[in-house]
Amino acid sequence: MSSRYPHMFKPLDLGFTTLKNRVMMGSMHTNLEETKNWDRVAEFYAERARGGVSLMVTGGIAPNQEGGVFAQAAGLYDQGDVKNHSAITKRVHEADGKIAMQILHAGRYAYSPQCVAPSPIKSPISPFVPAELDAAGVEKQIQDIAETAARAREAGYDGVEIMGSEGYLLNQFLVTHTNHRTDEWGGSYENRMRFPVEVVKRARQAVGEDFIIIYRLSMIDLIPNGSTHEEVVVLARAIERAGATLINTGIGWHEARIPTIATSVPRAAFAWVTKKLMGQVSIPLITSNRINTPEVAEDVLATGCADMVSMARPFLADADFVAKAAKGQAEQIAPCIACNQACLDHTFSGKISSCLVNPRACYETELKFRPAKEPKAIAVVGAGPAGLSAAMTAAECGHSVTLFDQSDQIGGQLNLAKQVPGKEEFHGLVDWFQARIDALPIKTVLGTRVTAGDLDSFDDVIVATGVVPRDPKIEGQNNSNVHSYIDILSGNRRVGERVAVIGAGGIGFDVSEFLVTEQEDSPSTNLPQWLKEWGVADPAEARGGLAVAGGEDAAPVRNVTLLQRKKEKHGKRLGKTTGWIHRAALNKKNVNMIGGVNYERITDEGLEISFGETRENPTLIAADDIILCSGQESERQLANKLLEAGKTVHIIGGADVAAELDAKRAIDQGVRLGLSL
Ligand code: NAP
Ligand code: SF4
Repeated sequence: MSSRYPHMFKPLDLGFTTLKNRVMMGSMHTNLEETKNWDRVAEFYAERARGGVSLMVTGGIAPNQEGGVFAQAAGLYDQGDVKNHSAITKRVHEADGKIAMQILHAGRYAYSPQCVAPSPIKSPISPFVPAELDAAGVEKQIQDIAETAARAREAGYDGVEIMGSEGYLLNQFLVTHTNHRTDEWGGSYENRMRFPVEVVKRARQAVGEDFIIIYRLSMIDLIPNGSTHEEVVVLARAIERAGATLINTGIGWHEARIPTIATSVPRAAFAWVTKKLMGQVSIPLITSNRINTPEVAEDVLATGCADMVSMARPFLADADFVAKAAKGQAEQIAPCIACNQACLDHTFSGKISSCLVNPRACYETELKFRPAKEPKAIAVVGAGPAGLSAAMTAAECGHSVTLFDQSDQIGGQLNLAKQVPGKEEFHGLVDWFQARIDALPIKTVLGTRVTAGDLDSFDDVIVATGVVPRDPKIEGQNNSNVHSYIDILSGNRRVGERVAVIGAGGIGFDVSEFLVTEQEDSPSTNLPQWLKEWGVADPAEARGGLAVAGGEDAAPVRNVTLLQRKKEKHGKRLGKTTGWIHRAALNKKNVNMIGGVNYERITDEGLEISFGETRENPTLIAADDIILCSGQESERQLANKLLEAGKTVHIIGGADVAAELDAKRAIDQGVRLGLSL
């Protein structure tokens, strides 16, 4: 059953309990706990327990008011909370799962004026200056965390994870960057690590021996004055002695300016960091970050990087990840493409997390697959993300589905996205759609442009015909040196060394990235190059793992100017947690970003622009080629014909609304429609 992944499916004996495989679902803050809809929270975890993961960790739960990530963050403060959390553990245990509760004290990262820290130093990602803890305050935090661990046990959890990484309170005590104390909790490393070690010791005393304590240890801080590898080893040994059962890996503080989980980060990019600690302690080590397929997980384990892997977002994408891997159906696992669009971007906007690929994530009690009462004959026109999702969902509910596309391949605009360096994960997404379409009773008719008359025999028609590029109406745009983004990303057009890109939305950024990188050499599939470009070093050689970024390999292959009419910062509307990465990546390649422009005309010499309402400061952007990335409009010709003919038509995806279209909205709309037919 599990012969393809022998290391992944080897049980892990913890002495008092055994984990049935080596896969843990890592902690994710989904904002679900904050809904206080405990049935919904319980179903989220129970569905994943049924999917075969051996151990799950909840989102961060505060041990006290001052430690909450924000003012109303979920906590485990009293017997009422114990009762609420019992609903989760009961359902998980009924599904033969195990679950640990993460205790998260945010310290100076708490978005609250009540926040506390070892020293009163504001973080760059928070507006609040934390109050310095006095001796009694330090003792209170330790006591609160220990008591929370005891309450977690009372609530039926199998363990706790003590959050000691990502720059939260325990991490803040460890490094001089945030700890300027001169008492027994600061100064020497021995003093600075006293707080996390004491926390683990007291938590162990509070919960007894037969209860899992995971300590999440920051193995590479990626901030100035972060820990050295030597200090990490000293801490890990002390944490083991203090009573931890497992050590999990933390990579980078939240304020670090190096991406650690975004899609452009190579897969398993930080497993080597955990490997450095292997053999230094005798308790099992868990590694994490950008592990998203059974193959990668197996490889990480087989090459001795860790005893166990933690994956978090992949369990939003597919609750049955482990069960499908066990059945040898890896191609059926919905892939996490690490986009952050529906998970972290939602969390940081105060919304409930979900998943771009799987809109049911965190909506399990609302979006349910039920057999259709009256199965219908359904035509889906357009095999982009919206059409594919609608077709799959309708077929899963028992409808008879025919999927049409004028192209001879499925995927629509995803096929363009996958050409962009740093977006290689989109290959996996298209492959997964193909595997699902093949596995379901869906008739596919590709390479055919259907007309309204071809669809007469269907009960319902779903129009997912997508978008066409917007006409920016710029003088000279029909010159031979002007191309659409489709020509560029589909590889139909090679361009010269100087390029102007009109439009700095998601596609303008993608096209710029494509133009400045040699296609064979995406850093996202070349770990040494990626580490070098972002300045990640071995923490045994450079404190915190921070080296100087860049180097000769970072030279751009083209001279690109990226323009927009708006005066705002380029990329402001890209993902909340990833916009800065796209901007930083283009800055590293010297892309010239110019805003607040008017497009005057295009000539053989390049693009003429001016600035402001009075069209002052006329400037020529000398360019061999000009690429139009000026947004899209809905493609509705077929929809309009069908509506005129009186057909029942459902219009989804870009054909419905082109503005701000992305795969998240397209897939969500497709799934919801498929369930409602
Ligand atoms: P978009 O995000 O709407 O951007 C269109 C760009 O064209 C804007 O920069 C806009 O800026 C400019 N523009 C609009 N009308 C124009 C006109 N008449 N003349 C000249 N310029 C004009 O569209 P997109 O870049 O095509 O992306 C489509 C969707 O895919 C978006 O929702 C995007 O978020 C998504 N996507 C996301 C990513 C990602 O990484 N998250 C990547 C690719 C695509 P000004 O009006 O200021 O000139
Ligand atoms: Fe992964 Fe994107 Fe889904 Fe988040 S939204 S779980 S990053 S695929």
